[in-house]
Amino acid sequence: MAKRILVVDDDDMNLMRTEMILEEDYEVLLADSGVRALHILRNQKIDLVLLDIDMPVMNGIETFQHMKEFAGSIPVIFLTASGEVGDVVEALLLGAVNYLRKPCPPQELRKRVAQELEKR
Ligand SMILES: [Mg+2]
Repeated sequence: MAKRILVVDDDDMNLMRTEMILEEDYEVLLADSGVRALHILRNQKIDLVLLDIDMPVMNGIETFQHMKEFAGSIPVIFLTASGEVGDVVEALLLGAVNYLRKPCPPQELRKRVAQELEKR
């Protein structure tokens, strides 16, 4: 069965782009906010989360903190635009396994997702 990837980003273009890159190999679910992401995580089996840091209302770091309360074993790869170095450091200190800079070349994204899933 295909692994399930949850992509969380407040930018619809980023969601669609990431889905196009991954949908050949994975079942891709999309969430346009942290709140939606948490709802999906509570109700579905997810194998990996791609999580945008810069989002309104509940940013990626806050979403990750909530996620750890009930879904702490699911690997997370943070997605960050350049200039968010402080956010990345905070994410790594919280136990994030990985991060990617946006926009990420398709090959790199596929590779990093596959690597992360192989560790499990
Ligand atoms: Mg964003």
